[in-house]
Parts: sequence; C-alpha cells; structure tokens
Amino acid sequence: MQFLETAQMRYSAFTLISEALTGNRRWKHVWREPDPKPGYDVIIVGGGGHGLATAYYLAREFGLANIAVVERGWLGSGNIGRNTTIIRSNYLLPGNEPFYEFSLKLWEDLEQDLNYNTMVSQRGILNLCHTDSQRDAYARRGNAMRMAGADAILLDANRVRELCPYLDFDNSRFPIRGGLWQKRGGTVRHDAVAWGYARGADQRGVDILQNCEVTGFKIQNGRCLGVETKKGLIKAKKTAICVAGSSSRVMAMAGMRLPIESHVLQAFVSEGLKPIIPGVVTFGAGHFYVSQSDKGGLVFGGDIDGYNTYAQRGNLPVVEDVCEGGMAIMPMIGRARLLRMWGGVMDMSMDGSPFIDKTGTEGLYFNGGWCYGGFKATPASGFCYAHLIAKDEPHPTAAEYRLDRFRRGAMIDEKGVGAQPNLH
Ligand SMILES: Cc1cc2nc3c(=O)[nH]c(=O)nc-3n(C[C@H](O)[C@H](O)[C@H](O)COP(=O)(O)OP(=O)(O)OC[C@H]3O[C@@H](n4cnc5c(N)ncnc54)[C@H](O)[C@@H]3O)c2cc1C
Repeated sequence: MQFLETAQMRYSAFTLISEALTGNRRWKHVWREPDPKPGYDVIIVGGGGHGLATAYYLAREFGLANIAVVERGWLGSGNIGRNTTIIRSNYLLPGNEPFYEFSLKLWEDLEQDLNYNTMVSQRGILNLCHTDSQRDAYARRGNAMRMAGADAILLDANRVRELCPYLDFDNSRFPIRGGLWQKRGGTVRHDAVAWGYARGADQRGVDILQNCEVTGFKIQNGRCLGVETKKGLIKAKKTAICVAGSSSRVMAMAGMRLPIESHVLQAFVSEGLKPIIPGVVTFGAGHFYVSQSDKGGLVFGGDIDGYNTYAQRGNLPVVEDVCEGGMAIMPMIGRARLLRMWGGVMDMSMDGSPFIDKTGTEGLYFNGGWCYGGFKATPASGFCYAHLIAKDEPHPTAAEYRLDRFRRGAMIDEKGVGAQPNLH
C-alpha cells in the first residue's frame, strides 16, 4: 500500500498536547511503504539498527537520497528488537575504544538529532571486580578509556556498596573488591532506535522495503549490479550488506566465506520490581549482566549458548548458567519471577570485533561480526559504514575493522582468547 502522507510531522510537547485535545486525528504514519523502484544509487540489505542508521547518515551526512533499505521481515524483527539495550564505551584496545566512544557521543545527541524519543538513559555501567589482578586490569582499561576521551572511575568496595548495597560482597568464591564505573554508559529503548532511524531516513527520501527478502546477487565481471529479491530484481550502483546474524548466509550468496559463526544469545526479563538497579551491573567472575527497565523488570543475560545455529531460541543449560551468575552476586534475584525470555542470532567473529569494509566484489560492501555487542555500536556503525559507502574509504575510527586482518595477523582481540568465537 502506498501511503499518501509522509512522516514530515515534527514531534514536540506542543504537538502532543494539541493532538490529545483534538482527538489524535493528525498523526501521520511514521514511514512510507513504497513499492521498489527498478534501481537505486545505494541498496542496504538488512533493516536492523545498523542498516537503518547507515541509510539515515548516508542521506543526512553525505547527501545521498536515492537509497533503499531492503528488509526480509518487519523493522525491528532482528536483534535490534531483541537485545538487552546496553550502551557503553569501556573498551581497552586502540582499534576499538575510539570507535565506541564516537558511538556514545552520537547516542548523547541522538534524540535531538532524530526528533524522536529513544529513551537514552545514561544511568552508568558498573563492572564488578573480584580479585586484585582484575582490579589492576580494570585500572589499565580505565586509563585507556580516559586517554581516548571517555570517562572511567575505579571504585573501591565501599563505594560499590553505597551504589548497590544488596550485592553479595562477602561471597566466599567471588568477593567483590570494587568496580570500574562508566557514568555515561546506560541503556536505550532498542526498538525506538529502529523506528527513529527509519523515520529520519524516510523523511530524507529513503525507501524502506519491508517483507522483501534478498535471495541472490546480480554479479557480472566482478561487479555487483544489484540484488534479487522476493519482489524481483532491484539494481544498484552500490550494495551494502548489514544483516547481523544472517551475515554468513547472505554473503555465501555472493560467493564469500566469512570469518564469522552464528550463535544464539538469550535475554531474560523478570516481573516488575521497585527501582533497585542504579544502571547496568556486570559480574566479573562469570558472564552475567543486569539492568532495570522503566517498567521495573530486571533485564539480564549472560553467555551465548555456544553451538552454531540460526534458530532464534536458546536452551536450558545456559538459562541455568545465567541464573547462577545472578545468584552469585545478587542472591535476592532468586525471589523474582521470570516473566519472559527470548533468543537472537549473533554474528560472532573470530576475534570478537566487527567488520566495516569493502569486499573483493566491486560495489559490494560488508558490515557485520558485531557479536553480542553491536547495539551500542549502532550510531557509529551507521555513520562509519555510510562514510565508507559514500567516499570509498574507511572512517578513521573504523579503520581497523577490515576483513583481511586475520591474514595480516592484526586481530582486535579485546578478550585475548584467540580465534574462538564461542569464547568472545
Ligand atoms: C539477547 C541479546 C542481547 C543483546 N544485548 C546487547 C546489549 O546489551 N548491548 C549491545 O551493544 N548489543 C547487544 N546485543 C547485540 C545487538 O543486538 C546486535 O549486535 C545488533 O543489533 C546487530 O545489528 P542490527 O541491529 O543491524 O541487527 P538486526 O536487527 O538483526 O538486523 C539485521 C536485519 O537483516 C535482515 N535480513 C537477514 N537476512 C536478510 C535477507 N536475506 N534479506 C533482507 N534482509 C535480511 C534481518 O531480518 C534483520 O532485520 C544483543 C543481542 C541479543 C540477541
């Protein structure tokens, strides 16, 4: 269906009140639903957070308008609507930290930029440490963050106790010795990010084509000329892939094998509780992290399930593992009832870091390998991918995210666990 009205309406307190008083009759659809054109300057495959952000920045920052985002399902059906909403820039390595700090700065201006309430909430992130050597490692990480212009404070156990008195400080296996606190970290309403970027891109003329799965590529003489879709062939001067957990399947259609495996990651939400968690809290001796939504639910998660899959559901052993992690630092969580849980498919790269790069096929670009940390990267990923597509050269903060880094021995192995995606 072709909507007659586009979403040029500006949101404000005044609009909200005047619509409320006049029967809410003038709200417009947030984006159009156009039919595909025969061709575009740029096609972005994947209408998740990264694809929509790329389209938005291509139009806003680099002045392109003849763009389509081609999405298999509906907007928000992938990981952008499945993640646990955490944003932060507490990275150590020079290939990563400036990029994630750039992203955090873009988050800070996002709502004004998009004129959309994405509920950016900088309530802080606290990484707990349980040994002296871990505290030393956090001091090093904090220093690296500050050198890249980010904020970081090393807290002792007493200060952590003031923030979260209910934690199990004297647990005999995992005593809490302190933590690394990034005040500017926090959470953002994940699906509002997709909707906000979609609206912003649509307003700048980008066609968002939902229910339009890409089923193949038209490649001739080493050049990508467009994509085959369920709605027919759509030609493009440049084709940019951005399909997260489906990366290896989609790139296989273009004849490329990636240093990526797909794994499932689960998320959990408890019943609504009174406000108790100040921001995001992470366990340092196992994989468990928790925040609290505005409705009061404890939102938490932990490790990936650890086997290759494209199924968007997880298994019970990891549920047990995640809940054990929660009980180890926060025994009172055992009293809360679990309300819902779900899984998403992660594009786990071999060193835990992403790719934003050109491919060996002319006119074909790739963005992926975000593992379970790509939500926080959404604005910078979109910006840097748009920069690469528009200028054919990498943005300085994403210059290390190259596909050939394993061949060059230039891995960005933030965890230092080697080429094992299930350990990142
Ligand atoms: C449970 C869970 C918790 C997470 N928690 C966090 C967190 O707290 N913080 C954080 O930073 N990150 C987190 N992540 C990771 C983050 O969600 C992802 O890295 C990020 O969302 C991936 O980028 P995206 O939004 O573009 O992906 P998606 O939303 O998955 O977008 C990819 C899109 O491509 C589409 N697609 C696939 N194949 C095709 C095709 N053939 N044709 C057309 N379209 C296609 C899909 O339908 C999908 O909509 C979490 C992920 C999960 C699952």
